[in-house]
Amino acid sequence: MIYTQPKLPYANDALQPVISSETIDYHYGKHEKAYIDNLNNLIKGTEFEDDELEDIIRRAEGPLFNNASQAWNHIFYFFSFSPDGGGEPSGELGQAIKEQFGSFESFKDKFVEEGTKIFGSGWVWLARDEAGKLFILPRSNAGNPLTEGLTPILVFDVWEHAYYLDYQNRRADYLRRLFDIVDWDIVESRY
Ligand code: MN
Repeated sequence: MIYTQPKLPYANDALQPVISSETIDYHYGKHEKAYIDNLNNLIKGTEFEDDELEDIIRRAEGPLFNNASQAWNHIFYFFSFSPDGGGEPSGELGQAIKEQFGSFESFKDKFVEEGTKIFGSGWVWLARDEAGKLFILPRSNAGNPLTEGLTPILVFDVWEHAYYLDYQNRRADYLRRLFDIVDWDIVESRY
């Protein structure tokens, strides 16, 4: 199996000013591409060659896990945004967020706080268990809730390459601004 990098569902400059076209050029064009290229090289001739990406993430370790998970995480991240995004989730996800975090605003504050606190590189996730319970999960490096038996709903990338060109050291500002472009229709469909 050869994994191909999915085309973005928006133009490289469509998420400005929240994410600049320069950041998309590097982050999507170089970083995501490199993880997918590495993944394709690493699975060649291994027992993982014909596996689904999710299964590789659940079972692999070391460099293969890192690159498989980073490939998946970036695709998931970039497909969470839209130039018409923002606002609040509705439907069952909106309801579950209100029930479990008190309000959308307190969920957002907690999500930004957990993402800001990650030491070094990582991802802040919203995930759910089989019963529909939601979890905010700060995870280092290539971490992914699939390895914990949970279903990913939303993720923000907190590696410096995701925000440094646009926000320098202001990670919390970057995380807060991302909520202005979240495509809740897509994110709700994952719940
Ligand atoms: Mn990244």
